[in-house]
Amino acid sequence: MEIKSILQKFEDFYLRINTKEKMIYESFPSLLLVEEPMLFSDWKAHMEKETKFSFLYLMEQAFFSNKISKGINFKISNKWYAMEYMEIEQEEYLHFYLAHQAVHRMEALIAANQLDPLTSLLHKNAIQSYVTATLGDNLVEHAAMYMIDIDYFKNINDNYGHIFGDQIIIAVSDALKKIGGSSSKIGRVGGDEFILFVERELDRDGLKNIARLIRYALDNIRIDNTGFSITATIGIAVYPENGNTFEELYQCCDKALYRGKQKGRDCHIIYNAPLHNHINTHEPAKLLQESGKLSIARFINKIVNTLISLDSTKEQHNFLYKEIASYFNFDRIVCKDEDGVFLCYEAEDSYQSFLAYEDLDMKDYQNYFIVDNALAINDYRTWHLKDEKIYQVFEKTHMQSAIQVLLFDENRQNVGFISYESIATRRVWQAAEINYIIILTNIMTSFFLQGRKNK
Ligand code: GH3
Ligand code: MG
Repeated sequence: MEIKSILQKFEDFYLRINTKEKMIYESFPSLLLVEEPMLFSDWKAHMEKETKFSFLYLMEQAFFSNKISKGINFKISNKWYAMEYMEIEQEEYLHFYLAHQAVHRMEALIAANQLDPLTSLLHKNAIQSYVTATLGDNLVEHAAMYMIDIDYFKNINDNYGHIFGDQIIIAVSDALKKIGGSSSKIGRVGGDEFILFVERELDRDGLKNIARLIRYALDNIRIDNTGFSITATIGIAVYPENGNTFEELYQCCDKALYRGKQKGRDCHIIYNAPLHNHINTHEPAKLLQESGKLSIARFINKIVNTLISLDSTKEQHNFLYKEIASYFNFDRIVCKDEDGVFLCYEAEDSYQSFLAYEDLDMKDYQNYFIVDNALAINDYRTWHLKDEKIYQVFEKTHMQSAIQVLLFDENRQNVGFISYESIATRRVWQAAEINYIIILTNIMTSFFLQGRKNK
């Protein structure tokens, strides 16, 4: 019987061997023409008459040369097989088995050797080979790929440091592991980018439900027992509708993800060829582009023109703060300076809770304003880990997220800060927002200072 038909008939069989003497003793079931013990080279010559399958050479290389490898995978007539060396009760065996088991073993190998050290998820090459093996082998009829990219992760690193950023990545991985279940694989394919590959048929609702689960999990991650909320954008592609290979699906996910980032992030987008096919993911995503709003350049221009035309009184500045709050969707703007703490703008009454900033000791606090004299707080609760005293103050102010910018007097002495705040919801500030707020604050304070001088 040809090896081809033997392999196709049996999913599982063994050869008892002796690698030192290069002998083959028997096979179970006994279909590999080993009726009596023989030298591997004789058996090989004998088998070669039957077949030219390369696995004989693989066997020679892997198991009968000087080195014994643990196992190899090979493909015959579009099916994957595995050949594995094992010792059972001091006897040596080669174990052969069919595709799905082979892929399983491959997975185990990958899992053992190719894990991302930070998260213990498969790294990019590992998930790529896993998906390639699974699809190439036609082991699944339907599958879905999710590409998950944390929003504004650079801000997290900048505000809380790389170590905290790493903790976030670990927490996100743990959250994804819980969602996956047994029919899925997860890989970390970039700094803050993950792939979830689900080997199931999912309709549109099913696809969306998994995306919602992921987003819900990220809204509730825990670090050292403190709750923390982050958002991610998710691009989704479906096998076989959107592509037949890892690379094709990955590209579709990438385009859908890109569209999600452009739309403002914190969302999931299912790839749609007519809508997304043309997307070039190498273009920079547009920031802060919301319909009906002035472009940021025009907005800053408007603020400057208003400042020029105004007399520098606090009331008139409050008009400007109102404009800024509405442009950037702040709920409250608070100023702390040498005269105390006062309100610049408030969307809804916050019952004087902003006065809690009076308890902040500026000497210590200003050390946290490292980059461009600004501080972005995405979630005040994380200060629990950083500085308990400041955390207590934040808690009393009712602020959830804030961008704060230091204020300086003529002599470059720090006199306080302005806090642009979100009270109703937590926000992950984007780099562009932070930069614009720094620019606007600097413009306004230089007008303030100029006004004082002229008095
Ligand atoms: P976007 O919403 O557009 O995704 O913005 P982003 O700030 O998340 O930008 P992007 O995804 O392009 O950047 C990811 C950043 O992740 C870049 C790099 O500084 C950071 N990063 C990459 N690997 C690691 C890591 O292992 N640990 C930490 N802490 N940060 C990492
Ligand atoms: Mg990101």
